[in-house]
Amino acid sequence: MEEAFSYFNLCTVCGTCRADCTIYKIKKLESLSPRSRIILAGLLAQNRIDISPRVIEAYFTCTLCDMCHNKCPSGVDVPKIVKIIRNYLIQNKKAPKPITDLLNVIKNSKNIFNIDNEDRLAWTEEIEEIINDKINKSAKIAFYIGCQGSFKGSIFPMPVSMVKILNKLKIDFTILGEEEWCCGNPIALTGNLGDDFIQFAKHNIDKMNELGVEKILFTCPGCYRTWKFIYPQALKIKKLPFELIHSTEFIDDLIKQGKLNIENKYSKRIGYQDPCELGRMSGIFDPPRNILKSIPDIQFIELEDSRMNSACCGGGGLCKVTYNFLSEEIAKYKINMFKNSNVETIITSCPACFDNLSSVIDDNIEIKDIHELILDLL
Ligand code: SF4
Ligand code: SF4
Repeated sequence: MEEAFSYFNLCTVCGTCRADCTIYKIKKLESLSPRSRIILAGLLAQNRIDISPRVIEAYFTCTLCDMCHNKCPSGVDVPKIVKIIRNYLIQNKKAPKPITDLLNVIKNSKNIFNIDNEDRLAWTEEIEEIINDKINKSAKIAFYIGCQGSFKGSIFPMPVSMVKILNKLKIDFTILGEEEWCCGNPIALTGNLGDDFIQFAKHNIDKMNELGVEKILFTCPGCYRTWKFIYPQALKIKKLPFELIHSTEFIDDLIKQGKLNIENKYSKRIGYQDPCELGRMSGIFDPPRNILKSIPDIQFIELEDSRMNSACCGGGGLCKVTYNFLSEEIAKYKINMFKNSNVETIITSCPACFDNLSSVIDDNIEIKDIHELILDLL
C-alpha cells in the first residue's frame, strides 16, 4: 500500500487519463475513471475510507489496458496500483466471487476452465496426424498454446492454423501437452507474484528445459507477455534462457526470409485490432501489419486511434470475469470504430480480442484470426 500512497501523492488530479480510458468514455462515471482509481487507492492506504461495493467495482472493472499509464503526464502507473489494490481486496476477502472462484480453479486444475488438465490436447483432434509425434519430445522450438487455445472450441483454429503453417514449412517443434500449465497471467493480474504465481512459472520453465527447448512460440499475447516480462520479474532474474517470440513476429520473419509466401488475395477491406498486451505493453506493432500488408493487393485500413492509442477490446484484465456486460459494451464500442472506418473484416492476433469482439459481432462486419487468414491464403 506504500506504493499506492506514493502514486496518490504524485497524481495532480489533472484528469488527462480519463480522456482515453474506454470504460470512462462509455460509462461517463468518475468512480470508474483512472483518476478515481488512484484517489481511492490513496484513501484506502490511509484508512480514510471503507471498502464499499463502489470501491470493489472500481478495481475489478479495469481492463488493465495500460492506456492511462501511457498518457499520464506525471508518470502515474494506474494499472500497477489497480493490481496492488486488487490484491489488498482479495487479502481482505472483499474480491468479487467470480474472481476468487477463478483463482481457486487455476490453483486446482492448472487451467482457467476447471477442466482436467489431461484434456489439454482437445484442440488437436483435427490435426492428430501432425501432432502425435510432437508431444513432449525434445526440440529446439516449442509452441506454448495457452488455456484459451487448448480448451475453448471457438479458439481452436488459432493454434491449429499455426501448427498447419509450421507443418507446411517442415519446421520441427514440440508442445508440452498435458504437462503445459496455465501461464499464471490471471494470478499476476490480481497483483500476486508470490508463490501462487511462481509455481506456474517454475513448472512451465522446467518442462521446457527438460525438452532442450531454445525458442518458445506463442499465439496468445497474454502468455507471451507473462513469459517475457512477468516470469523474470517474479523470479528476480534478468531474462529466461529461451528466445520468446510471438507468432506474428515468427510469421513476419518467415515472410522476410522468403520462406513463406502469401499467394492469394483477400478481397475485403481489413483493419487490425492491436491487443493491449502485444502492442502497447510489448511493443509489437509492425509484425502483424507487415504480414497483412504482404497479402497481394490488400486494402488495409489503419484506425485513427491505433498502435499506442488503440482502444482495448474489453476482453482483458479480468474485467470480463465479473463484469461481462461491460466487456461487451467496450467490444461494441470498438467494433463501431472499425465500422466507422469502413472496415469489412477485423483481424485479430489474440484469443481474448477474438473471443470478446466475436461475442457481440453482427452481420455488418466480420472477424478473423490472423493465423487462420494466412493459412487460407497460402
Ligand atoms: S493523468 Fe496522471 S496525474 Fe492526471 S489525473 Fe490521471 S493519474 Fe492523475
Ligand atoms: S488501465 Fe485502461 S481500463 Fe484501466 S483505468 Fe487505465 S485506461 Fe482505464
